[in-house]
Formats: sequence, C-alpha cells, structure tokens
Amino acid sequence: MISTRAVKIGKLIMGGAWPVSIQTMWKDPLPAPGSEAFAEALARIEGLSELGCSILRFAVPDMEAAEALGALAGRSSLPLVADIHFDWRIALRCMDFPIAKVRVNPGNIGARWKVEEVVAKARDKGTPIRIGVNSGSLPDDLRDSADRVGAIVEAAEREVAVFEELGFEDLVVSMKISEVEATIEANRRFASRHDIPLHLGVTEAGPLIAGVVKNSAALIPLLREGIGATIRVSLSDTMESEVIAGREILAAAGTGDSGVAIVSCPRCGRASFDSHAFTARWSKRLYSMRTKATVAVMGCVVNGPGEARHADLGITGAGDKVIIFRRGEIVRTVSPEEADTVFNEELEKLE
Ligand code: SF4
Repeated sequence: MISTRAVKIGKLIMGGAWPVSIQTMWKDPLPAPGSEAFAEALARIEGLSELGCSILRFAVPDMEAAEALGALAGRSSLPLVADIHFDWRIALRCMDFPIAKVRVNPGNIGARWKVEEVVAKARDKGTPIRIGVNSGSLPDDLRDSADRVGAIVEAAEREVAVFEELGFEDLVVSMKISEVEATIEANRRFASRHDIPLHLGVTEAGPLIAGVVKNSAALIPLLREGIGATIRVSLSDTMESEVIAGREILAAAGTGDSGVAIVSCPRCGRASFDSHAFTARWSKRLYSMRTKATVAVMGCVVNGPGEARHADLGITGAGDKVIIFRRGEIVRTVSPEEADTVFNEELEKLE
C-alpha cells in the first residue's frame, strides 16, 4: 500500500489507510429545485448509494446549475462534487453550499488570481479540491509533446505546485488519459513522487464492454500496487453500470469490501432456465446487498448446482420447475411463477 495523505470529502475520507471509494458522474442536466425531476434525482442518488457509490460528481456549467447543485447537496446522503471549468465564480458560489469537493482544471480557470480566490474560499470553507488534468486539455507547451505520460504528469505537478505555494494541501489529483498503458505509467510516476491521493480512471473509455475492459486493465494493476484512493469507471452507459463496474474492479483487485458476488452461467443448449434475464432482473438488488455471499444463477440442473456448489444461494431450472439450491444441495422446487418470490425469501435469509 502506497501511503498518501488523507483528505476529508464530506463524510468520506479519501487516501491514508481508508478503503478505495467508487464514484460516478451525473449524466444529465441538474434538475431545478422543487421540480419532479429534483425528487427523482434524490431517489436515484439513494439508489446509487445502495449500489456502492460513495461520491457523486456533477458538471456545473453555469450559476443556475450551481444553485441547483447547492439545493441537492443539502438533501443528498452522498457527498456531492462540483465539477467546474473556465468560470472560477461558479466554484466560489458552489462553496457557499455543503459541497463535499470541487474539481477544477486550473489550466482552464485562467489567471493566477482566480485560482488564488478559489483556494482562499476552499480553505475558508474546508472544501477539498481535485486537480483534474486531462490529456486532451494540456497547457500549450505540453500539448504536442511526444512523451504523453511525461506531459500529463508535468501538467499535474505544475498545478500541484501552485496550490502548495498557496499552502493548500487538501488535494486530490487525477490524470485522465484514454490509453491503458499511459494511464498506468502516469499514475505510477505521480504516486512515486507525491503523497496526494489519486483519483483513477481511463477517460473516454467507450461503451460498456470496451470501457470496462480498458478500465479493468488499467486500474487493477494500479490498485494491486496500492495506488489509487478513489475510482471512476467512465462508460458510455448508465451511472449504475459505472458503479457496478467499479465494484467488480475493486473486487478483482482484492481491495473491495463485502457484498454479493454473482456467479451466472453463459447458458447453452441444455438450459431450461433463462439465466440471462433472471440475472439482469436481479442484479441491482444483489449489488445492493452488503452481505458477503456468493449467489449463482445457472441455466440447467445438469451442471448448475454442481458447477456452483460453492454458492451460498443458487437458482436454476429443471424441466418445467425452478430449483433453489444452497452449496450444491437442492432446498426448494417451485413453479416458474413462484420463482421470484421464493428467491427473494431465500435472499432475505442471507441478509
Ligand atoms: S449451467 Fe447448464 S445451461 Fe448453463 S452453461 Fe452450464 S450446462 Fe449450459
């Protein structure tokens, strides 16, 4: 484990010896306070929290959005982060609300005095700042560098130097690149030189499958080396998918906490149970459980209970019946119509 300073993000602590957190980013415009969409947003935030999301970031493109985020932050159980580009006054306004962190790319905030104003207010309010550097928005003199890794690390270090000159240490850094190897190398290099918590992720990683593969390939080696305090799996997919992907990446890296591991078969010509549809239907419920358990959804009784004999709970089909098993032993046989109810009853016994 590479030791970093600890930074308090609302109720969460990032870095130090604290667990690696999962975050995602809101993908729609901020809803107006008091609207139906506002209430729906709060409910969705709760759902993300149940899935294992610990921090949620919002793009704040204008003052109206800052007001909306401020209203949401007062009601949200998750720490909310304001993501600001270009206009430092939006960052200043956001910090009037219980915002847990501000993300800026100081390179596009502009004049040094604007950054100084943001830092002064952040210090006053106790708001940490993430310096988010992207390979697509590097300073002019680094933009065309043949050493892409060196350039993004240099860009991040310049920004860190500005904050450190101002005596501001509540920092998190991210260096987002769309290539796997460059992401690994940049974060390794930065972690070897600084004790600042790192936010890991591959940017513009693509749709669900491509994005999960690229993020897994980049993040798992880093996490195994103890690098990374928080992760965001960027996908052209839902926030829920990003959080679930983050859970699986942490589990594969051996840094995840408790929760359900889902085992499901790919299905073949022997199947008498639609393991795909059942898994899709139940996955949010399963990922929302905090019990450490293995749950299997298998396509047939011929191989299902045997292949998933380590599962604490399993379900499969046999002819026109559905079978529930535990550790390879069949415990209930029910009709397909009863399957969801009975499966839920058995799940509750695990909780
Ligand atoms: S559990 Fe049955 S249906 Fe699923 S892949 Fe194995 S043999 Fe095929």
